[in-house]
Amino acid sequence: MLVLVINCGSSSVKYNLIESSEERDVCKGMIERIGAVTSIVKHEPVGKKHTKDARAISNHTEALQEILDYLLSPENKIINSPSDIKAVGHRVVHGGEMFKDSVLIDEDVENAIEQAFDLAPLHNPPNLRGIKAAQKNLPDVPHVAVFDTAFHHSLPAEAYLYGIPNRFYRRYKIRKYGFHGTSHYYVSRQYYKQIDKPVEDTKVITCHLGNGASLSAVDGGKSIDTSMGFTPLSGLVMGTRSGDIDPSILFYLVEKEELPLQNLHALLNRHSGLLGLSGYAGDMRDLIEEANNGDRRCQQAIDVFCYKIKQYVGSYIASMNGCDAIVFTAGIGENSSLIRKQSLQNMEYMGIEVDEEKNNNIERGKVQKISADSSKTDVYVIPTNEELVIAIDTAKIALAADQSPWV
Ligand code: ADP
Repeated sequence: MLVLVINCGSSSVKYNLIESSEERDVCKGMIERIGAVTSIVKHEPVGKKHTKDARAISNHTEALQEILDYLLSPENKIINSPSDIKAVGHRVVHGGEMFKDSVLIDEDVENAIEQAFDLAPLHNPPNLRGIKAAQKNLPDVPHVAVFDTAFHHSLPAEAYLYGIPNRFYRRYKIRKYGFHGTSHYYVSRQYYKQIDKPVEDTKVITCHLGNGASLSAVDGGKSIDTSMGFTPLSGLVMGTRSGDIDPSILFYLVEKEELPLQNLHALLNRHSGLLGLSGYAGDMRDLIEEANNGDRRCQQAIDVFCYKIKQYVGSYIASMNGCDAIVFTAGIGENSSLIRKQSLQNMEYMGIEVDEEKNNNIERGKVQKISADSSKTDVYVIPTNEELVIAIDTAKIALAADQSPWV
């Protein structure tokens, strides 16, 4: 089934056209700087010429129209008619407590996504805008919401409750939700394909290390803890996000620097993390290059990043009372042997040993084991594919839906 996967940000739309039954990419692309004088439009059909150009796209509805026009255009011949697309899958960041699985979008679901605006003000409003725009452009197919939070729905109360008065959980649902769920789900499932053991007996730690970064403890196939929390700000040090800090620092800064609240939000989300620590960059490649040139603060930022990962790995081994495998994924996890090595250094006590040669000789895009033969815990690099998870879930739900036109 041909599924269009949509991921809408406040000024961007990413898309992937996927043949879900064959798990095959057909085309992907991105429209950035929507609403600016010139937007950037990229299309990358598999096995055909890629294009990139600049032109004005004023809103998400126009962006979706641009994507359909491209896919339909006679010279590209990617689809012959809009009806070739049988379903649309939407990445939605926050599903609140309501959604433990992907769902067919109807008015109630749209209202629930809107109710979670408060919980994810940067993500849920553009996600819903994208849903409405796609419905306008493809009104006759089922639209499905796939939530970043859903995989972490299995967290037990002791992992998701914060040590604040319980009435705030009851009143406002303040709790840990966790994110990157589709990625943690996907790489843990790819790991299960490598082993000959019932899933119920496995304990895995998945490390999604991209610009945003999180770890998840996956016990018997279920997420039982994860490093992001109420919002995607907590946990690991990230590109520009602080990760965990002592909350008292905020009161202290408000007093010392007379910072208004909205500045604190920007400080922690956009000016902290690797960028804040190094004073140079939030991008790991740039940091590694400068650290190699002798920049002490860039080196320190890398050290803090890796130390945090090690701490979480240790704590999840404690939470699960063991660990069969640690899986690295996403931009940094898949590409940086240095970060993989440093994050798991000196953990022989916990049974973790990375093989230097295997770690340094990774073939891009493949599932690979990088632990030493003597390591009690396996270590893997597994490329993530969140769009494929969204496409497969969407196809499954669309097929089951009464209103789908081909059932
Ligand atoms: P996003 O969260 O935006 O999807 P990605 O998963 O694409 O992020 O990861 C982006 C991060 O991966 C950046 O910090 C980038 O520098 C890092 N990265 C990509 N390739 C490498 C590499 N070869 N070595 C180190 N870091 C890398």
